[in-house]
Amino acid sequence: DGAAGGATTYKIATDTTFAPFEFEDEEGNFVGIDMDLLNKIAEDQGFEVDLQVLGFNAAVQAVESGQADGVIAGMSITDERKEKFDFSEAYFDSGVVMGVAKDSDIKSYDDLKGKKVAIKTGTEGSTFAESIKDEYGFETVVFDDSNAMYQEVATGNSVACFEDYPVLGYGISQGLELKIVTEKEQGSSYGFAVKKGENAELLKMFNEGLKNLKESGEYDEILDTYIAE
Ligand code: GLN
Repeated sequence: DGAAGGATTYKIATDTTFAPFEFEDEEGNFVGIDMDLLNKIAEDQGFEVDLQVLGFNAAVQAVESGQADGVIAGMSITDERKEKFDFSEAYFDSGVVMGVAKDSDIKSYDDLKGKKVAIKTGTEGSTFAESIKDEYGFETVVFDDSNAMYQEVATGNSVACFEDYPVLGYGISQGLELKIVTEKEQGSSYGFAVKKGENAELLKMFNEGLKNLKESGEYDEILDTYIAE
């Protein structure tokens, strides 16, 4: 709660590496679309942020257990999650694609039979992979962060991974030795989340700040900073 005259500080949890939404730049600064949106919204609405860089699954759990007030981590708004979280307005459209090594022959789910597939704990991509693994006959190997999952595929230990297309697409544009071989599945959008029934004021400020950034053109500027045409 805010002390008299001081701004309220909220603990906001995020992922460790999910470029272009949150990542460490070459100078060691923690940057990205989520970080710029959060900081500008906080500035616009007059609250302070105590950022908790925990990893995706840990960030989601921190909010669920009340250890953090909110999460911004390229988190997809899903019906299942709406049972435990209240989401802001959507701020970015996404969806899950399959990535394979650059020189791989794997083109579709049918080619995964008897093979290993890398997934990231607690993500929509992992839920999707688990939902089709019996049908296509592959095994899953679980990682806590996206970079570890990509390395698993780049080195050939697993033949594929499932990841959000804006994130995998960005990684590839930055030199990641993978390629996207499928159309996106279960399109969903990213939202800022608080625990269901809690922090209604924070959620309202996020939505108002987001609306203001869209109206002022700053939202588009943030996207343009990280995503080339
Ligand atoms: N958008 C995905 C999800 O919400 C992945 C998020 C992430 O890995 N940071 O499950």
